[in-house]
Amino acid sequence: MTSPLDLPVAEMAARVADRHDSLKAADLVDAALARVRALDGRVRAFLHVAEEGARRAAEALDARVARGEAVGPLAGVPLAVKDNLAVAGMPLTCASKILGGYVPPRDATVVARAVAAGAIVLGKTNLDEFAMGSSTENSAFGPTRNPFDLERVPGGSSGGSAAAVAAGMAPLALGSDTGGSVRQPAALCGIVGHKPTYGRVSRSGLVAFASSLDQVGPFARTTQDAAALLRAIEGPDPLDATSRAFPAARPAAGLSGLRVGVVEELEGAGGDPEVAAAVGRVRAALLARGATAVPLSLPLSKAGIPVYYLVAPAECSSNLARFDGMRYGARVDAPEVEPLYARTRDAGFGAEVKRRVLLGTFALSAGYADAYYKRAMAVKTRLRVELAAAFSRCDVILSATSPFPAFRVGEKAGDPLSMYLCDVLTVTANLAGVPAASVPAGLTAGGLPVGAQLWAAEGHDDLVLSVGAAVREATGLGYVAPAIAKEVA
Ligand code: GLN
Repeated sequence: MTSPLDLPVAEMAARVADRHDSLKAADLVDAALARVRALDGRVRAFLHVAEEGARRAAEALDARVARGEAVGPLAGVPLAVKDNLAVAGMPLTCASKILGGYVPPRDATVVARAVAAGAIVLGKTNLDEFAMGSSTENSAFGPTRNPFDLERVPGGSSGGSAAAVAAGMAPLALGSDTGGSVRQPAALCGIVGHKPTYGRVSRSGLVAFASSLDQVGPFARTTQDAAALLRAIEGPDPLDATSRAFPAARPAAGLSGLRVGVVEELEGAGGDPEVAAAVGRVRAALLARGATAVPLSLPLSKAGIPVYYLVAPAECSSNLARFDGMRYGARVDAPEVEPLYARTRDAGFGAEVKRRVLLGTFALSAGYADAYYKRAMAVKTRLRVELAAAFSRCDVILSATSPFPAFRVGEKAGDPLSMYLCDVLTVTANLAGVPAASVPAGLTAGGLPVGAQLWAAEGHDDLVLSVGAAVREATGLGYVAPAIAKEVA
């Protein structure tokens, strides 16, 4: 039996917006809540389920439709929101103890825009604490599980959002991507995840990790659904001075004549042979339909991990200074202000966050900033130039998203450096500010999803998503529901 939750988002919303249609927003919310109840005890994608609020919002939307009012392109569509984005009146934890008890007074811009387009916030999803990690194991509230194999991680840091969509609990979700946190969990969970061009989407109301790299991005089962959410949230915002308008994107060019870059340094990338084979099949399908392969070299992409792991901790050490027990959330009291800060931060932050703050403080400290932070920033600038030159020779780059499929819970948790290497194929797009999306590229022999990553020049988000749609047509590979999702209607 099929559920209305499994419809394409545009169709779901159009039916809800049509007052003569029997499908109501309330039905979609009830169906989503039923799936959360049936599955989330095992998957643990959500930190907070807004059962009452979602029901009320759905009834209000249905009432507007009944009165003949126009509602937006996401009318009635349940939306899961990563818990580092503010939703007014819901707890905001960043999966950290330090924010215990904090409830923001207003919505992040992306949330307000999605809601204005008709989306219904279903709840807040689990993440690595302050979005630092690649497995969602660094959550103070315990790990999220991969819906394809509950013994494995969903990826991270937006693992809760990815797992919620993959398990069918929400058709759309929001995540944030600083070094891969939308694309890598999308790949590991077999769905679409898009990191927009830096500045395309407002960061206002996103808890800052590394401000020069952070972007909010959509998760969905198809590129069309992801584009529908991107349309709703994108565009300049007076509350984010780095947000910008990008010219109307090129229409889907079709595959004939599309120049597909193949980057020597990203091929294989020390990864899993099944991942390399899956990406190879995607490439072959594109070439068979008239695309041409353009061999490229991006020598500086090899510096991606070291540069990222200097720039991101440096920015995070500064951004996280605001969590001191004075302004937000939890406090461990002390008679003097300095021990109050120290005790609060010692008790409130987890090990990975502390590691990053220490690394970043060191990289920025007098005497070391020139050797570390400033050098990293110089390489970041050259990487941008190198990538811009590459995009004068090709329209998109195709690579894997993650070097390997989902790993076991606990497998890398004790080894931060091996966890950092999960990001080897994703950080470059953040450092260069360009758009990139992960799209499903089939399953391994063991039934684990593999993602293919498409990147394009700054502003060409629609090209990325339309080529993603073409990949699906050319290969027949797309979202498939995991066995666990088939247990429920
Ligand atoms: N895995 C990377 C990190 O740990 C990326 C995180 C992200 O994109 N938020 O920093």
